[in-house]
This record gives sequence, structure tokens and C-alpha cells, in this order.
Amino acid sequence: MEFANEWKNLRPIERRKLLGKPLQLPLAVELCYLSESNNHNNKGLLNGGSKRRMTPLVEVCHPLPSDAVWKKVYLRSGLGKKEKEYTQGWSVSDEPLCKLCQKQCMGKNAKAPEFFEDLFCSLTCYEEYRMRTSNRFLRQELFQIEHGVCTNCLLDCHKLVEHIKPLSLERRREYIEKVAPKVAKRKKMFEKLVNDPTEGHAWHADHIIPVYQGGGECKLENMRTLCVACHYDVTKAQCNERRKERTNAKKHLKLVMNNLKNGLTSTTVSNAKEHEALEVEGDKLLINVPGSAYSLADP
Ligand SMILES: [Zn+2]
Ligand SMILES: [Zn+2]
Repeated sequence: MEFANEWKNLRPIERRKLLGKPLQLPLAVELCYLSESNNHNNKGLLNGGSKRRMTPLVEVCHPLPSDAVWKKVYLRSGLGKKEKEYTQGWSVSDEPLCKLCQKQCMGKNAKAPEFFEDLFCSLTCYEEYRMRTSNRFLRQELFQIEHGVCTNCLLDCHKLVEHIKPLSLERRREYIEKVAPKVAKRKKMFEKLVNDPTEGHAWHADHIIPVYQGGGECKLENMRTLCVACHYDVTKAQCNERRKERTNAKKHLKLVMNNLKNGLTSTTVSNAKEHEALEVEGDKLLINVPGSAYSLADP
């Protein structure tokens, strides 16, 4: 009896986990994945492009009905937790729509979602959405379109991997140094590729709009192929950009504080105290960057 109650109180997603069995997608979707892996395994696609899959699933979700609008939604979360922002379709009659199929969400949490799965009409849609936005899936999709060619330096990473696989370690090194000097210059990624020439060690699926700027809900339109060297450069540049933004924000704040101080008072505020206040304000600024995926909804 107690077990039955506990079971009833579990979220459906947790029940599924406990059952420990693989999730069953609609047969049509299963079939789609099946034919996709066939394409990869028999090299039909790679060797001549003759077996291209018929319908690339470029869009993750179904198109929004004409009488509905996109809304920003936030999940109810525990105190002090950072809230994440999501987009969800809402009908004219103000009903939330499933993030995947755009049918009305009927769950009890639908209007005040607490968990990500509350944004879907059913667990089936939730699982399918998760699969379609998973890194592995997006990589496969991206490969169908860009074929492992770096969108920045145009290095054909797929061809490179295929070429060096049968070679000895020494020959692999020589070849990479010749064809991809940028990769060869970075010792760690170079050695990885030499010792284990796989696609994952040659190219990455990069978020065009970075996750920290709100590109967190992955969709294929926001992804591009970058060779490991270009990906490293891009990531580094983004880090520097963020650092610069923070420094500027602090400088601006200092200016505002100084103006305030000069306008309002008095030399009684000691330098140390001013510095302290600045630090606190600075920390707040770090969290509350507008448009960031980590920004607070209600600061
Ligand atoms: Zn649905
Ligand atoms: Zn590149």
C-alpha cells in the first residue's frame, strides 16, 4: 500500500527511470532513426552521397499554429535557484502548447510549469524533443548538411579522418601537419587525433549563438561545424569577450558610484568602504547579465 502511494507520487519521468527499460518512441520515429544509422553504417552516404536520407529533421518542433504566439516561460523553482528561460507556444485562448507537437498541454502543471517536461503534452513528445536536441543527434544532423567540413577554415575533417585511419602513427602525424597545420600546432588535440582518429577528435558542433548568450536550447539552425582548432579559437575569443564585458561593466559602475559620491556627500566614505561596495555590486552584475541563459528572471 505504501509502495503504491510512493509510486503514485513520483513524477512520470521518474517512474520511467525506475522501470529501467528503454523508452519506446512511436514506430515511425524509430524507423527514421533506423534508416539513418543504416546510411552511416553502409557508407552509402559517405561514399557517393547516393543514399541521402529523405527528410532532414532540421526543425526540432512543429510549426506554430497561425493563431498562437511564442511566449517566454520560466520554470517554478526552489528559492535562490537560477531560473532558465524557455520559449513555448501559447494559443489565443491562453493555453500552453506542447513544445514539440504544438498540441495543447493538459497536464496539471501546464500553466505553471515546474519541470521541463511540463512544457510538453506527453512524455513521448518530451523524450523525442530531448533526443532531437541531444548533442549526438545534432551532430548527426549537422553531418548530413555540412559533411564534417569546418565552416571557418574549410578543412574537410571527415576526409582527413578517413585518410589517416589506416596509416601508422608516424604517417598520421606527417599528414596532419601537412593538411591541418592549425591542428598540429596544438599538441593535445593533435595527439588525440593521431592516436584515435575519430570524427569527434576532428570536428565539433559549435553553438553559433553561445549558450551563455541564450543559445542554450539547441536547435540545428544554431549549430555549425568547426574543426577542433577553429573551435578552440572561437571558444577562447568568447571567453575574452565575456571578460571584457565584465570589466567594462565594473568600470561603468565605478563611474556611477563616484558621481553619486561626489553629488551626495562628504568625504566620510573611506576608500576601503567604497571598494567593498563596489565588489558587492560587481558580483551582482556578473549574475544578472540581460539575455544570459543564467540570468535571473526576477532580480
Ligand atoms: Zn506533444
Ligand atoms: Zn577550422
